[in-house]
Amino acid sequence: MIRVGVNGYGTIGKRVADAVNAQPDMELIGVAKTQPNFEAHTAGERGYPMYAAIPERSPLFSEAGVELAGEVDELVAEADIIVDCTPSGIGAENRELYETHHTPAIFQGGEDADVADVSFNARANFDAARDADYVRVVSCNTTGLSRIIAPLEAEYGVEKVRATLVRRGGDPGQNSRGPINDILPNPIEIPSHHGPDVKTIFPDLEIDTLGLKVPATLMHVHALNVTLEDDVTGAHVRQLLEGENRVYVIPEGMGIDGAGKLMDFALDAGRPRGDMWENCVWGESIGVNGRDLYLFQAIHQQSDVIPENVDAIRAMFDTEDQQDSMELTDQTLGIGI
Ligand code: NAD
Repeated sequence: MIRVGVNGYGTIGKRVADAVNAQPDMELIGVAKTQPNFEAHTAGERGYPMYAAIPERSPLFSEAGVELAGEVDELVAEADIIVDCTPSGIGAENRELYETHHTPAIFQGGEDADVADVSFNARANFDAARDADYVRVVSCNTTGLSRIIAPLEAEYGVEKVRATLVRRGGDPGQNSRGPINDILPNPIEIPSHHGPDVKTIFPDLEIDTLGLKVPATLMHVHALNVTLEDDVTGAHVRQLLEGENRVYVIPEGMGIDGAGKLMDFALDAGRPRGDMWENCVWGESIGVNGRDLYLFQAIHQQSDVIPENVDAIRAMFDTEDQQDSMELTDQTLGIGI
């Protein structure tokens, strides 16, 4: 059993905790939080031992009726590995704590790549994380792009990727984010920083990305153009992507014409929190012109990185190979449509 602690129990942390808790080869030994908010109460209902992330705030937990198992450095000392799910920048500050206790750690995509030895995507570079002590699971957008690029690269070879990322303004609970009524080129510099982030997974890839932000909280939508090394047919690409368990090629007859219906679909399917772990590629958008492939995909920013965190743990402890780990993660979480 790999004993896992989660430091930072927000959007990503609570999902990682549930996913770890569902694994037969892992034990969730606790989660660390800064405040006793609603998430602390639901963590308690799930039986997750709670640790104070900021020791001076411990009294707030008892005042709110949330029982504490200890403070974060006790969790770090006890864990075989910590999954750091704190806000961007805090993970890098926490690295010293993990090093002090010789506890390996996984960081999230909001951190700079140099926070860890390896940037990770299970489909693309599982083996790069073998035996690494510090690994960064790349961002939701980079995860979404990597899951498409990896099979295309393996099957046809990729000459160049051009991607326009229409990004949600914030997550549903982030009511201070925006825009509320605007369409922002964001970041305004072209190409955007997303391409270089993808290159942390595919160092030799040619990729240019552009970003926008829109008044939505549901998902990101990517418009992709990939120039392949071979001539292809749309049918062949579709078949290839349909063979990827973490890619859902939306069939034409489903009547899913946008991110809103995708989120409804996930809720109707009874998925926890309405999560959609898979990339969602619109089947009829897969178009080919010679060596140029085009498609639209939607990425659920809150959940697509969750299985990647689980696989990163197995890669770091060298307990399963890529395929077995991904299959076990998918099977335990219910991934694959
Ligand atoms: P979040 O704000 O929802 O959650 C972060 C949690 O960490 C909060 O509960 C916060 O109170 C807590 N926290 C703050 N300071 C802390 C500290 N010092 N110690 C412990 N906990 C602390 O953020 P999130 O969206 O879950 O993002 C976490 C990381 O995941 C970031 O790197 C982010 O870029 C990345 N990420 C986010 C998304 C997304 O869409 N939300 C997608 C992929 C990756």
